[in-house]
Amino acid sequence: GLANRLQDTFNRLRGKGKLSESDVKEAMREVRLALLEADVNFKVVKEFVEKVRERAVGQEVLQSLTPAQQVIKIVNDELTQLMGGSQAKIAQAAKPPTVVMMVGLQGAGKTTTTGKLAQFLKKQGKYPLLVAGDVYRPAAIKQLQILGEQLKTPVFSMGDQVSPVDIAKAALEHARVHGFDYVLIDTAGRLHIDEALMNELKMVKDAVNPHEILLVVDAMTGQDAVQVADTFHKELEVTGAILTKLDGDTRGGAALSIRAVTGTPIKFAGMGEKLDALEPFHPDRMASRILGMGDVLTLIEKAQASVDKEKAVELEKKIRKAEFTLDDFLDQLAQVRKLGPLDQIMSMIPGMNKIKGIQGMTPDEKQIGRVEAIIRSMTPAERQNYKIIDHSRKQRIARGSGTSVQEINRLLKQFEEMQKMVKQFSGLAKKMGKKKGKG
Ligand code: GDP
Ligand code: MG
Repeated sequence: GLANRLQDTFNRLRGKGKLSESDVKEAMREVRLALLEADVNFKVVKEFVEKVRERAVGQEVLQSLTPAQQVIKIVNDELTQLMGGSQAKIAQAAKPPTVVMMVGLQGAGKTTTTGKLAQFLKKQGKYPLLVAGDVYRPAAIKQLQILGEQLKTPVFSMGDQVSPVDIAKAALEHARVHGFDYVLIDTAGRLHIDEALMNELKMVKDAVNPHEILLVVDAMTGQDAVQVADTFHKELEVTGAILTKLDGDTRGGAALSIRAVTGTPIKFAGMGEKLDALEPFHPDRMASRILGMGDVLTLIEKAQASVDKEKAVELEKKIRKAEFTLDDFLDQLAQVRKLGPLDQIMSMIPGMNKIKGIQGMTPDEKQIGRVEAIIRSMTPAERQNYKIIDHSRKQRIARGSGTSVQEINRLLKQFEEMQKMVKQFSGLAKKMGKKKGKG
């Protein structure tokens, strides 16, 4: 499967002390093939590989990691981002009951998952009501009632002669009167998406205004699951997806593509037929599972934390002494090119976060180039003490850097502001450093 292929790729990388650009290229080719083979949407694969390559080549010099570990870390980070970054939790209405509508194709696992969700909520001390809203499949109501018995959870049913819309409305009223926290509405599915199904689901939606519309999709169906999710989302604006049958021999493509293609977060994963086989979906854990290397990643995480701290400490020292010069500024700009956006670097420095929002403090690539040119055209003495830069010096610097006196004035003004703030924050940084030693 995907995990095995990626592990093979990374094992090959691991043997190497230093990675060349062609090593990275080769690894990325493997990652790309592995993802495509796992039935991940091709556009998603393309963007993913591009992002990883950009981050992997040249930059992110972490002394405590081997180059291979760094690549693995980047792949893991990006996989996590691809699946939404952080865990998406189930909605909770400010005023109960929270209305949850379960939708999806026939056989996806809606009814089973409705039961699992009830169990999950009960464990959190909630009081859910199951609603038998599938009136088309003869056994559907019975199936939910059996689940209700197992869970010792009430099931609201009106038989199969009442419309799903009326059932949903009546169930909501029942839940309000009896103080249920959650109303979980099971609905009918078809083997394929059709208009009649969508129209009916829309009517149920309009009737009860669900806080959450959860699309249940079968992970085994790979790209089809993504297609289904896309259509359901366009028609119903679903608020989340539940991937079922992740315990089976799935290739992982659905998990990796759904969020990226539809923008819908995966909220839960079904890991088996039993009622307790439902897990909140954690993108980071899923990424580790796909990479099959949870422990390694924790190690890498720790190494990285210590390196970032080292860097932050160095900068902090400078800040404390408030000896931030134009040379340091130039240094920083070089770092920016290597490491990414200036605001990211700034956020590593305790107390510097506040500067981020200030206009002109986060130059873009082109601006950085001009600023670098200006500072390079200064003499060491000028860089050490910008106050000696008078008008004739400015004219010389402008000529040397191919810029204008106005631009130099602007830069010096910005730098002056920055220095002022650095001084201000040096006190703050000291305090914060003591409090939590944040890096
Ligand atoms: P519905 O038609 O969408 O309501 O689907 P059902 O809830 O009836 O489920 C269809 C089949 O999928 C049943 O046999 C379930 O036991 C099975 N199923 C549902 N979720 C999972 C899961 O996470 N893992 C496995 N292995 N089977 C599941
Ligand atoms: Mg069903």
